[in-house]
Amino acid sequence: MSVKVASYKHEVHLNLNVRGLPLSPTLAINETSRRLEKEGRTIYKFGLGQSPFPVPQQVVASLQASAGEKDYLAVKGLQELRKAIAAYYQREHCLQFSWQNMLVGPGSKELMFLLQLVYYGDLVIPLPSWVSYAPQANIIGRPVRWLKTSQKNHWLITPEDLERHCIKDRTKPRILILNYPNNPTGKSYSETMLKDLAAVARKYHVIVLSDEIYGEVNFTYAHQSIAKYYPEGTIVSSGLSKWCGAGGWRLGINVFPEELTWLLDAMASVASETFTSTSAPIQYAAVTAFEGGPWLDSYLLRSRKILAGLADYVYVAMDKAGVRLVRAEGGFYLFPDFTPFEDTLVKRKIYDSEGLCSAILKETGVAMLPGSAFGLAPEKYLARLAFVDFDGAAALDVLEELGDDALVDEVFLSTYCPKIIEATHLLCDWLS
Ligand code: GLU
Repeated sequence: MSVKVASYKHEVHLNLNVRGLPLSPTLAINETSRRLEKEGRTIYKFGLGQSPFPVPQQVVASLQASAGEKDYLAVKGLQELRKAIAAYYQREHCLQFSWQNMLVGPGSKELMFLLQLVYYGDLVIPLPSWVSYAPQANIIGRPVRWLKTSQKNHWLITPEDLERHCIKDRTKPRILILNYPNNPTGKSYSETMLKDLAAVARKYHVIVLSDEIYGEVNFTYAHQSIAKYYPEGTIVSSGLSKWCGAGGWRLGINVFPEELTWLLDAMASVASETFTSTSAPIQYAAVTAFEGGPWLDSYLLRSRKILAGLADYVYVAMDKAGVRLVRAEGGFYLFPDFTPFEDTLVKRKIYDSEGLCSAILKETGVAMLPGSAFGLAPEKYLARLAFVDFDGAAALDVLEELGDDALVDEVFLSTYCPKIIEATHLLCDWLS
């Protein structure tokens, strides 16, 4: 009893910004899915956006060889790794960064938080956006300004949207986060759009955090960075989680232009007072990943092929079933809109995206995240579907055996990604 009173008294001192803050939806749905599986239910894990592919063997071997690395490393990151990252951007994206202008962190998510913490500005993000950008701003107490997008515009902001927003207060400090290929929609910005957005960002001195964590899994590898058109104001964010299958390793990077080293230094100071430096063995292993080689090119080529095949399969099936959605261009996600089924849903007392996802999970075992987790009004019947529940290692191996010309067709997908195919049918049947 006395314990309860004590904890009650302490609870009232919880920082107002975190009072009532739930677990991040991506991690909460993962825990729910695992619990339901343990209870014996068949769950189609389309909730958490985790890479289905294994960490390439070369990178795992490098981690094994580095297990004895036990020293604290430089706050900004292992020099060898930063040099490998600089060479990687030069080689793969024709972007020039000095190896000194990088910050390695325990996941790019942590680095985004640091950026918001040290830079006093509004957070400007498209609506919808990934689940954690806005909560991070809320925790720190920064205003969040959402820029509306539409399915018609493929959920992308336009230069006019940004202009309309910035002109209201021309000198206000702002961070704009652009994420492409996008989570949750799978869409990307064209070269022209990036150029035009860059021009507006430059005009209003907006700092752009370019979240390119899915860049390497753009299905046609046509990924371009806005840093090409707005180098002086762009921080490029990436990491090992999505293209190297290493989400749980927690290694993220932020790459800065010379003009923003004052921001990098401020973030590094806070890093030195908080996480100190990123895990040493992981950083040594990351050198191998960023140095790459034909093995990585082949791994990425096959990963993209499988993801593209899946994205297309699910898109076509759902489109046929009457769901509104746009084709994905990269990453792990589709963002179906179930509004065409509104009348039936209301009859079933399903009034919002959360209710929709709960009912689907309960009745079919398909776990997805509601559109509300991405900032959309709760009553909009949208959900994010992450097509990642399959044995990526087996699928990659078979594709290697079959050779470069092998097709990732329905036969391949139903053999090596059966849960995605089953879940798609379950969803379509549920709707009908
Ligand atoms: N990016 C992943 C997702 O959107 C999850 C990673 C995380 O939330 O830390 O599902």
